[in-house]
Amino acid sequence: MLYADNAATTKMSQTALETMIRHLNETYGNPSSLYTLGQKAKEVLEEARKTVAGVIGADPKEIYFTSGGSEADNQALLTAAALGKKAGKRHIISTAFEHHAILHALRRLERDGFEVTLLDVHEDGLVRPEELEAAIRPDTCLVTVMYANNEIGTIQPIAEIGEICKTHGVLFHTDAVQAVGHIPINVKAEHIDMLSSSAHKFHGPKGVGFLYVRKGVRITNLIEGGAQERGKRAGTENVAGIAAMAAALAESAGKMDETAAELIKKRDRLIEGLRQIPHCALNGDARRRLPGNVNFCFEGIEGESLLLLLDGKGIQASSGSACTSGSLDPSHVLLAIGRIHDVAHGSLRLTIGEDITDEDIDYIVQSVQEVVTYLRSFSPVWRDLQNGTREYILP
Ligand SMILES: *Cc1c(COP(=O)(O)O)cnc(C)c1O
Repeated sequence: MLYADNAATTKMSQTALETMIRHLNETYGNPSSLYTLGQKAKEVLEEARKTVAGVIGADPKEIYFTSGGSEADNQALLTAAALGKKAGKRHIISTAFEHHAILHALRRLERDGFEVTLLDVHEDGLVRPEELEAAIRPDTCLVTVMYANNEIGTIQPIAEIGEICKTHGVLFHTDAVQAVGHIPINVKAEHIDMLSSSAHKFHGPKGVGFLYVRKGVRITNLIEGGAQERGKRAGTENVAGIAAMAAALAESAGKMDETAAELIKKRDRLIEGLRQIPHCALNGDARRRLPGNVNFCFEGIEGESLLLLLDGKGIQASSGSACTSGSLDPSHVLLAIGRIHDVAHGSLRLTIGEDITDEDIDYIVQSVQEVVTYLRSFSPVWRDLQNGTREYILP
């Protein structure tokens, strides 16, 4: 089986798995307990906090453990909204292609009286910093722009955006779930006030993540209860999961450059191979994208059929985000970069990991070619395109 859906989730690394099992077995004490076993668990937490902070250039005190990326996103937005309300500022800037954890949380804030401006991301899948700057108003309380997109992998000009936000005194949050552990990040150098991350996107376990909140930003609770996480996130800590997350992140960060260089070679081999298929297009900028991300649209076919047939050939891929599969709507990300409905429906996302070989890449290319040709052979849309009653959109 060939796993090419690492943007949906990753396999746990052996190191993370062993760390998790060890702590489930040995460090089962409650970190709030005062006896030795509890204090041992507490130490494990604080060690993990140091590790995580180190990787993104933060202070350990600025890290809050959460149940994952969605929770971190929600807590960040709630925090910004509370601060905005206090200051009489109710305008938020974001982008049209954020993850649903952001878009749906923003929708709730709109119902609570906030006004949201969603920036265009253009055909290349990139936000224009000058457009962002132009959208800032005196009542803007937050800018939230994802670090790297989960569907098309485009990497945003985060440092520039951070600089603009700093200049205008606006809080800046980034959903960095796809970026952490994969590309270098430094929250101080990039002027990031809040950052969300999730362990299962970098070979850690599911159900654990963290929110970085810059010192001086007063964080709001999403979950009320005990005094865990300095009173900002109640609930007995997922000690084993947090330790495994830190182990996975340290490991990924330690070999980030080599992994990225290897993946980029394979990614580009995959892109070149798929480009040979007639009437298709790569979604998002070819260079400013995550090392392992490939996303194509093929004219005249349905992405869902493509996926099922690829599954039959042992290839696990996606048509976009795992969150939209099962729904008939085309991806909001592809619509945001200007793909029309028909074309957006024929999408394929392949997110490769380190374990993939050149032979695997060639097998994927060959399989996609076969399946696209087969699906087109009985597609009414393709027939219309071929006999000229409909015009091709993709070259
Ligand atoms: C996966 C993902 C999330 C959600 O993270 P969970 O840990 O699954 O809640 C949020 N944002 C982005 C960009 C993601 O890729």
